[in-house]
Amino acid sequence: MNTTFHSTRSSSKKLTSRQAIRQGLASDGGLFVTDDLGKQQVDVAELIGKSYQDMARTVLGVLLPDFSASELDECVRAAYGSQWLDSAITPLKPLGDDYVLELFNGPTSAFKDVALQILPQFMARTATGAMSANEKVMVLTATSGDTGKAALAGFADTPGTGITVFYPEGKVSEIQRLQMTTQSGSNVNVCAVRGNFDDAQSAVKRIFGDKDLATTLEEENGVSLSSANSINVGRLVPQVVYYFAAYAQLVERGAIKVGNEVEFIVPTGNFGDILAGYYAKKLGLPVGRLTVASDRNNVLFDFLTTGTYNRERPFYQTTSPSMDILVSSNLERMLYYMSEGDTELVRSLMNDLANNNSFTIPKTLLKRIRGLFSCGWADEEQVSQAIADCWNANHYVIDPHTACGYHVLEQAPRETGMPRVLLSTASPYKFPRVVGKALGLDTAGTDFDCMDRLSEAANTTAPKNLRGLEHAAERFTDVIAIDEMSDYVRNVSQQL
Ligand SMILES: *Cc1c(COP(=O)(O)O)cnc(C)c1O
Repeated sequence: MNTTFHSTRSSSKKLTSRQAIRQGLASDGGLFVTDDLGKQQVDVAELIGKSYQDMARTVLGVLLPDFSASELDECVRAAYGSQWLDSAITPLKPLGDDYVLELFNGPTSAFKDVALQILPQFMARTATGAMSANEKVMVLTATSGDTGKAALAGFADTPGTGITVFYPEGKVSEIQRLQMTTQSGSNVNVCAVRGNFDDAQSAVKRIFGDKDLATTLEEENGVSLSSANSINVGRLVPQVVYYFAAYAQLVERGAIKVGNEVEFIVPTGNFGDILAGYYAKKLGLPVGRLTVASDRNNVLFDFLTTGTYNRERPFYQTTSPSMDILVSSNLERMLYYMSEGDTELVRSLMNDLANNNSFTIPKTLLKRIRGLFSCGWADEEQVSQAIADCWNANHYVIDPHTACGYHVLEQAPRETGMPRVLLSTASPYKFPRVVGKALGLDTAGTDFDCMDRLSEAANTTAPKNLRGLEHAAERFTDVIAIDEMSDYVRNVSQQL
């Protein structure tokens, strides 16, 4: 048994990666990490010319040591098959002198599919054994827009598993809302809550910490709770693969030689997407720089600039809803690794955050972090301009999240000579109104009218999964208060 996973806040209790995935969040509120990260390196040269699926088998084999090769093979086959619109899964394309890595060709048209197509496969292989026939898992997720649908699509009709998604009422795009409320499957639940994403995410974390609820669900229903948010280590590790895939494609195009460093510009909110790039670096990928691109909720920019993380600030609802986040959960894992595994420090910082809404890291730590991580951000005006600029310069349409990254890319001096890869996190067709407006198109009518005009102007086709929502039936209309979420979870767990 390979029990090396423990909390970012204490290393006393050790779990296997299987157990860590099943549990989601550590019982002290920390996130699961392993000190073995980087002990075994991935030989990048060996990946050149391989399929995405082969790369996934290799990288995941290192990151999830207690899964067997044949189990990982089954997981990879199920997750990265014909449900993807591009056989490269995450194709790399030139963008002027730079590159864009498309992460949105999966079944829900956002980058979350990379992780959420495979997480249910992992989860199905985490049952603890003898009584596995009666063990059920209820996956709980708070979503700022894209996670919810990707989780629903991944977990729908997975045996032994239920999925419950909470989204902030009125704070996701119309297409995002319809994607969730029309989800099929007998084990899915979707519910709007009155509040913003951080309120919903905090409430989900409280539900995970509610020991009485856990006992009741376990004893009465045989149900344990787990998470599909990017705090789950099973969500994080699949994302490491596409950094390797991007690098291999750069080598295959002749843009670099194995060993050359590359910079990644990453639209991020919860720090999950970019943290995966840091994991890739720890596994040996030549990552020269990781640049955080935020929207107007630029809490990460301020943190990386000053060393103080302060969540007491206005919350802005922007045109990039999936990055409208003030509490960036995965930052905790970066702090753990960058402080060389200082669980005491992480615990005290997180206590400060819980009690005072802010924390400040030591100067030496900030310096070390800034040696690898850069940052930038874009307000909505700049996002709109970036969408237009990118179209005018490259005849390539980007969504508002990717546009935050494009803005940062445009602003940054090209000093290093390193190839730069912009991670593109959503299809522009998910946000057809915002994108249409930025491109000067007519935005009268419904989001579907906007999709059709975008399609005509850009000469590309809207993904069927999005265009088809116009006539899909809505199944879920519940709206509840934050403090009703716990009862909601109890009810749906009883029906599992
Ligand atoms: C979730 C999401 C992001 C941010 O991802 P993190 O996990 O917060 O890094 C960016 N863009 C889109 C479209 C997303 O759905």
